[in-house]
Parts: sequence; C-alpha cells; structure tokens
Amino acid sequence: MGSSRRADSSGFSHLDRPVQFLKGVGPKRSEALKKLNIGTARDLLYHVPRRYDDASTIQPIGSLKVGQDATAAGRVRSMGVIPTRSGLRIFQIVLQDETGYITCSWPGQPWLERKIREGDQILVTGPVKHFHGRQIHPREFTLISRADRNDEEEPAGTVFVTYPATEDVPQWVLRRIFRKNLDWLLEQAEEEEYLTPELRKEAGFLDLFEAFQRLHRPGSVSDPEEGRRRLAFDELFFLQLVQALARHRETEVQPGIVFERTNEFIRPLHQSLDFELTEAQARVLREIYQDMGAPRRMNRFLQGDVGSGKTLVALFSMLLAAESGYQSVLMAPTELLAEQHHKTIGELLERAEIPIDAVLLTGGRGAADKRKAIKALASEGGAVIGVGTHALIQEGVTFHRLGLVIVDEQHRFGVRQRMALAEGEAEAARPDVLVMSATPIPRSLALTLYGDLDLSLLDELPPGRTPVETVLNYPRERAQVYTRVEEELAQGRQGYVVFPLVEESEKSDLKAATQEYERLQTEVFTNRKLGLLHGQLKSSEKDEVMRAFRDGAIDLIVSTSVVEVGIDVPNATVMVIEHAERFGLSQLHQLRGRVGRSDTPSICILVAEPGEQARERLTVFCRTNDGFEVARADLQIRGQGDLFGAQQHGRDPLLRFADLRTDEPLLTRAREMARGIVSKDPELGDPDHARVRAILDTRHAERLKMWRVG
Ligand code: ADP
Ligand code: MG
Repeated sequence: MGSSRRADSSGFSHLDRPVQFLKGVGPKRSEALKKLNIGTARDLLYHVPRRYDDASTIQPIGSLKVGQDATAAGRVRSMGVIPTRSGLRIFQIVLQDETGYITCSWPGQPWLERKIREGDQILVTGPVKHFHGRQIHPREFTLISRADRNDEEEPAGTVFVTYPATEDVPQWVLRRIFRKNLDWLLEQAEEEEYLTPELRKEAGFLDLFEAFQRLHRPGSVSDPEEGRRRLAFDELFFLQLVQALARHRETEVQPGIVFERTNEFIRPLHQSLDFELTEAQARVLREIYQDMGAPRRMNRFLQGDVGSGKTLVALFSMLLAAESGYQSVLMAPTELLAEQHHKTIGELLERAEIPIDAVLLTGGRGAADKRKAIKALASEGGAVIGVGTHALIQEGVTFHRLGLVIVDEQHRFGVRQRMALAEGEAEAARPDVLVMSATPIPRSLALTLYGDLDLSLLDELPPGRTPVETVLNYPRERAQVYTRVEEELAQGRQGYVVFPLVEESEKSDLKAATQEYERLQTEVFTNRKLGLLHGQLKSSEKDEVMRAFRDGAIDLIVSTSVVEVGIDVPNATVMVIEHAERFGLSQLHQLRGRVGRSDTPSICILVAEPGEQARERLTVFCRTNDGFEVARADLQIRGQGDLFGAQQHGRDPLLRFADLRTDEPLLTRAREMARGIVSKDPELGDPDHARVRAILDTRHAERLKMWRVG
C-alpha cells in the first residue's frame, strides 16, 4: 500500500491516549464521556455528528413570517419563566441576530431556565406563531456555544453539526472540545493513513484527514457523505482482511485433499432420481466438485431457499468424497433434523443401490447405539457417512478417514475449533468444509458475515412447486381463520398455529402458546388432537411432539417459533402465525417453509393487529415466496443492526459507517482489495503493508483472535 511518509509500524498512535489529556477535557469530563463510549482520543475522533443542518436554510430573524416553519440562529439576549393564569409555566427567550430579534417560547418547560443562559448562541427549529407579536415555538434547539466561556465565536460555517450528546456532556461541551482539538485530531488521523495516494485516487476515496474534516467540519451538506464513505470502506476493508487471512490459513496453508471423481456413486444416484437437478443445483455442484478436486481446501458457504434441495447437494458432495475413499459428516442443528437427514439419505442410497453406510450419531441416542456409531466412524470399512448433531465433534469421536464436513452455519465456529484440535493430533485431518444456511440472507450481509467463505447460491426451486398462498387477517377475523384451518384438517391434513412468546408477560398482551393451546383444544378444535411445542421444553420432549406430528398422531401443533427449524412434514398444509407483526420477515419465511412441502396447495395465514408500518411489511411478505427477495426486503425495512443479531461481538456494532443496503459496491471493492493483498503477502510482512498490519494488530486484535488468525 506504499510506504507512506511517516510509516510507524509499531502501531503506536497518539490517538490511543486517554481522552482526559485533551484540551478542555480533564478527569471529570472524561468520566462523563465514557457514557458516550469515548475513552480515547480516537473514540473522540470517531464520534461523528448525528445530524447536519444546512445553514443556508437558516433564515434571518428579521424576515421570519407567521405561519412559517423556521430555522433560526442567534444569541440569547434575555430570558425568563412566565407563569400563566392556568398555572402553566412558559420558558421564554429573546433571540437576536444581525437582522432582528424574536421571542422563543417553550410552554411547560420551565426547567430550561437551568440549561440556557443569556449570551448563549443557539439554533432553533419550529413554527412561527402570532402571539403578542411573532414567536417561535421550537420543536428542537441546539446550544451552539456557551456565553460565559470566552469562547471564540462559532465560525460561521455553512453546515451546523449536532453530535450525539448526553445530559452530562451536552452539545455545547462537545462542540467546544472539538473546536479545541479537531485540528490536532485530524493531524493524528493523517498519520494513520494506510492507503496510498494512488489507491485513493483510483477508488475515489478521500484521505483520512479530509474524511474526518468533512464529517466534523463540513463545508457543504454533501461533505459528510463523502467522509462517511471513506470510513465505511475502512471498516469493511479490515473486516474483509481478517476474513481473507482466515480463508488463506484454512484453505491455502495446509494442503487439502484432491478428490477424484470416478462416478462410481455419483452416477447411480443421478440415475435413481425421478427428476432432473435444477440448474442451480447443477451449478452449485460444479462449484463444489471443482473446489473438492483442487489441492486447496474447500471452504464454501451454501445458501438456498427453503425447499431448494440442499440435502441432495450435500449428498452428491459426500458421494464425491466417498469415491476417493473418504468419509463425510453432515451436522444438523437439532436431533430431529439429524434423524430426518439420516432417513432421507439412507433412502436415497438404498434406492440407488449405493453400497455405503450412513450412521446416525446424536446425543439423545442410547449408549449402545452411540458406541456402535462411534466405532463405525473410527474403523476402516465402517461408516462412510456420519449424520448427526454436535455429538459428532465431541471428545472421543474419531474418524477413520474424514474428507468432508458439512455443517450448519450455527456450528461454524465450534467445528473450526474442534478441527483445529484434530489438526494437532493427526496429519490427515484436513477435510473440506461446506457450510449450509437454512435462511437466505442478502449478498451484502453474506459477504460481511461469511467473507472467509466462497459463496454458492441455490436460487431456484424445483419445478412444480405450488407457492404457498399467504394472506393477512385481523384478530377480529379469527373465527374465519379457524374455519379455514378446520377445512384443511377435515381433509386429513395437518397444520401449525405459531405464537411469538411462551409466557404471558405483564408488559405485553401476547397470547401465550400454553394458554392458547388449552383454549384451542377445549373450545375450538375439540375433535382434533393438538400438540404443544415451546422453548421451555427439553429437546427430547420437543422431538417427541414432532415425531408424533410427523407420524400423524397430532393434527395441529400449537407452537412458539421453535418450530422454525427445517422440519419436513409434507402433510402439513396450513399455518397460522399469530402476532405476525412481531416477527422479522426472514423468520416468517422460515416458518412458512414448514408448509407447501408437497404438491397440495398450502396456505399461510398471518394474523396481525392493524398498524400501518407492520401491515406494509407483511403485505410485501404476502406478495412473494422468494426467500432472497424476502431477505432483501427485511434488510431494507429493518436495517442491518437487527439482522446481525447474535453475530454481534462485544459492545461495538460490527459496522458503524457502512450501510449494507447501499454500500455493496464498497464492500465488493474492500473484499477484492483484502483478498488481493493476502494472496500476494499473506504474512503482511511487506513494508508496504506495515501500516495495515499495525492497525490490524492494535485495533482488530479481538477479531483476529476470534478468527484464529493471530
Ligand atoms: P432444503 O433442505 O433446501 O429445504 P430439501 O433438500 O429438503 O430442501 O428438498 C426439498 C424436497 O425437494 C425434497 O423432497 C427433495 O427430494 C426434493 N427435490 C430436491 N431437488 C429436486 C429437484 N431438482 N427436482 C424435484 N425435487 C427435488
Ligand atoms: Mg480440495
């Protein structure tokens, strides 16, 4: 990235100094700044304004007219609290600029007397009313500078900035701190520049000095966006860099297995299927076969919509491994799913007359069964395919010749850790890895969370699927909803009623699944057999209910969202989702995927309170059955914060400046650059990369540890 003028590879920076030593801060204020997560000078630099007001929209006070919505700025000339006959106390000030003065009134806010002082410079926004002359009734105000501090006059910039502030560190204090320190902070930022002028020019990025300057001291309202873009790139770049290093370590450093395709097993499976693979399946399999056939380890992320045929893709991959004499494991998130996969795979192998064994290993099986499975996996000529849960990677489970690990995304890190241990033990433990996800996520989110993996998409459903009809009902229409459910049950079909919570909490009026289960059983579906499923049940109890449902002993399952994992009961054709507005769209899509699993038309009924926003979201959902489209809509509507969910580590948000809704081009560039650097200089030992290495080691240490790329 070019040895820049003052390269300092130690990573030391004045920005790591405690904020206390900056001008105008001191011990007391630095304590208060902690509430804003500002501990160091760097934190202060990164504490960027939350709002920018175009000063050209600030109107001269002399020209304000009654009826206008005005933004005005000036100094407080006088102030006081005025009691009214009705007992209401009104805080009033007279605000003056070069063109005149005007009264500002805050009815019912006498306490403002303690906040504002005569001589303060403030900015107000609100309607101009006629009341003993002209008055502004501010909706908002910002204290720009304090009167009694001998502060230099706020420079008459063209953009007013408003920082996130607290009671103890109000706006004017922050502004004053920045006035005194910004020049120094910007100089320090310049020292940390890691992109060469050439690279910046090519990508159209500002340098760090300029970027922060435009965020803290914008010259125009478009400046902050340019600054943000640079910082967004930085955070995406370092995230991608860590992942590129992880990818390098896992796929390149240790040689992988070169699987050779003989078609011994793959062909019979093909021939035994009574359908063609979808184009997406064929494409994804080509990607997988290519990875597996190459000397580097596969590290691939397979995303596919509900019902897109992931299991079959998994099986073909395992057969390729088997053709070279290697074992595979397929790890599912729950026992029931593991059982289901095991059964499906067993049937497919049997039908194709492929002479290999698949064993099931889950925690819930009997000790003798477990021992048998473990033995089969460990011995030559034993099991070629292991299907199971976490139990597969527990202590004491060894493999004769493991070549491929297929794992649910939830277990990604656990499997890595376990495999890292195995690497210490045995030479041969270098299996290829395929991570599968049950819920589609938008590409930008996938690249952010799984940047270390290569992406494969199953973005096509097998032909002949009838899309699930999805409708939206109000709670008052519940009687009709039940009638509709009963129609399905009367035809021998099954269904689900899903609730968001288990226990009725005081704060919410959510109907607890438990209560509803009893009510539905005793008052509504009296002739049907209902089952109850909720998060408080032990997993063995849950599995018991689901097994009974699968075997047809239960007609209708009343459940909290625990049902969402990939349960496959094709006879289930109706689903009711209560309080649908409380679920994210992707979660709704997962739930909906429990029906529509045969050629019989299915229906999904959302019951939601009236409410504009929620209904708009749900209407989008009713219109499409495409999981990727649902995921995109979810990201658009909810933003990325929610979607990161459990993936967040520590108190810092994963991304502060980048917005995955709009920054995909930036992300792609960051990824290309990160991968480019790692492929040329994986140790980052080149003097050109000293700055990058230093930033990584000092500011991303925790993340490096998490990805085990120290
Ligand atoms: P996923 O795990 O992606 O939700 P599954 O692997 O369970 O989907 O597949 C759903 C169903 O579709 C299974 O019954 C499977 O046999 C069937 N299936 C898979 N691929 C095809 C295909 N190409 N054509 C028709 N049916 C398919
Ligand atoms: Mg390989």
